[in-house]
Amino acid sequence: MTNNSLNMPGDLDKKDIISLLSLDNDSDIEMLLKTASKLKIENFGEKFLNYGILTFSNFCEENCNFCGLREDNFSIERYRLNPEEILQGAKSISNLGIKEIILESGLDTFYDTDVISYLIYSLKQSFDFKITLSLGERGFDEYRSWKFTGADNYLLRLVTSNENLFANYHTSGSLEKRVRHLEYLKRQGYKLITGTFIGTPGQSIEDIANDLLTLKTLKPGTINLIPFIPAPFTPFQNKKGIDVKLLIKSIAAARLIMPGTNIIIPPQFDFLGTDDINLGVNSCGNVITTNFSIKSFTTEIPYRSIKSENGLLKNRTKLISKINHDVFSSAILKSNENKFQ
Ligand code: SF4
Repeated sequence: MTNNSLNMPGDLDKKDIISLLSLDNDSDIEMLLKTASKLKIENFGEKFLNYGILTFSNFCEENCNFCGLREDNFSIERYRLNPEEILQGAKSISNLGIKEIILESGLDTFYDTDVISYLIYSLKQSFDFKITLSLGERGFDEYRSWKFTGADNYLLRLVTSNENLFANYHTSGSLEKRVRHLEYLKRQGYKLITGTFIGTPGQSIEDIANDLLTLKTLKPGTINLIPFIPAPFTPFQNKKGIDVKLLIKSIAAARLIMPGTNIIIPPQFDFLGTDDINLGVNSCGNVITTNFSIKSFTTEIPYRSIKSENGLLKNRTKLISKINHDVFSSAILKSNENKFQ
C-alpha cells in the first residue's frame, strides 16, 4: 500500500479516506481490516454490545425512494402493536439479557407524544434498559418531552451528506433540516445513533469520504453504515445494489476515523453472502443489532449463522427463533387495524 493512512487513525483527511476506499488489492484490504480490528480491540476489547430493535409499527407517512416502508408501497402488510404488546415484547427482550432497546417505527404519528412518553416511562419503571427512539423526524417539542421522560438515545440517519443526493432519495425534507434535527437532539442531551448509506444510486467514493467526515463532526455515540439493497416496489427497485467490498472498506475506514465510536455491524451481512470476510468485518464493528419486528419472526428473510470468534453473532439467530415463539406470535395485527384508539 502506498499511502500512510493506516499509521495515523483518527486523523485522516478526505484524500486519505478516498485512497482507503479505493483499495483494490486483497492484501491491502486485509491490512486495512487488521488495523481497524486492532483499534476496535484497543477501544472495546473482545466484547460486543447488543441492541434489541423492537419495531412496533411499519406504517410510515413518508415516501423515501429507497425504502420498502414508504407510504406508497401497498405491497407490504402493515401492522401496529398497542402499548401493552410493546411492553410485553420489551419484557421478552429484557429476559434475554439485552440492555439496550431501540423502539422503532416508520414516521407514524398515530403514536403521539403521550403514547411514546407512556412507553418510555413504563420501560424505565420496569426494566434496566437504555432506550433509543427511532421514530423518524418528529417535533422538537416531542424530542424534548421524551428526553425529559427518560429516553437516552435517538436514532436518526443522516442518509448522505450530499444535498443533491439527499433530494434525490427523498420526496420531502432536506439535508439542512435533517442536520438541524440531529443538532437539536444532541442539544437536548440525546446520544445520537446515526449513519449513512453505502452504495446508493449516484453515490461516489468522494461522497462516502465526505459522509464519514460529516459523521465524525456530528460526534455520534454509535455509527450505522447501511448497505444499499434495492427494495422491491420502490422507485429504486431496479438500481444496482451494494458492492460488498466497498461496504467492508467503509466500515474499516470509519473505525480508523472514529476509533472510539460504537459501530454497528450491518445485519444485512446475514444475507449478503459474505461469510468468508465476516470475521474481519465483525472485528471492526462492536455492536450487534437484533431485530425483533414481527416480520422477522415469520419471515422470508433467510437469517443465517454468521461466523464469529466468540459466537455472539450466532446467538442472534437463536434469539430470533426463541422470541418467535414468545409474545409476538399472538400479536400480529391485521392490516390497518388501530387497536388502541
Ligand atoms: S421515513 Fe424511514 S421508514 Fe419512512 S420511508 Fe423514509 S426511511 Fe422508510
